[in-house]
Amino acid sequence: MGRRLLLLGPPGAGKGTQATLLAGALGVPHVSTGDMLRAAVAAGSDLGRQVEAVMASGELVSDELMIQVVEDRLAQGDAVCGYLLDGFPRTLAQAEALGSDVLDAVVLIDVDDDEIVARLLHRATEEGRADDTEDVIRRRLEVYREQTEPLVGHYRDRAMLRTVDGVGGVDEILARIVVALAR
Ligand code: AMP
Repeated sequence: MGRRLLLLGPPGAGKGTQATLLAGALGVPHVSTGDMLRAAVAAGSDLGRQVEAVMASGELVSDELMIQVVEDRLAQGDAVCGYLLDGFPRTLAQAEALGSDVLDAVVLIDVDDDEIVARLLHRATEEGRADDTEDVIRRRLEVYREQTEPLVGHYRDRAMLRTVDGVGGVDEILARIVVALAR
């Protein structure tokens, strides 16, 4: 099983949780562009200042900027033996810039819209995340459907896609991902 992986799915599908567990189990870095950008905003860096307003609106940061961020990250030594990408690529342009020969498999965590909105609203109240007001949640979901979901077909056409049901307990879903990757 190759260890250069991408986790795909709508916001609130549990990608972050699963990516953390899976990356730990495989011994590869968890490369989350959302976490990297939130850290940049918190640190008040140039990058953080550039992306703060876009992130708060639920829209996407420019492809050009994101491609640069991820290129720099994957060039670091810890990514030599593999990585778990979470949140990138998010558009076809990003997928094309990355190329499919740097990925061994793509896992889609599948969860329907009603479940997603319920989970994201719950997360917003629990964690007080500034980007999780109801309008922004709906916008993030629209952006996912418009810009990111086309990646499902892109990777399916390349026979790289493994789909797992994203409804269930954390351990149960992790086990489904491990099984899907072993197929
Ligand atoms: P996430 O935590 O992955 O949902 O990312 C939070 C926000 O960061 C997104 O709503 C976007 O504004 C921005 N972002 C993260 N990754 C990307 C990406 N690959 N392309 C564009 N914007 C991104």
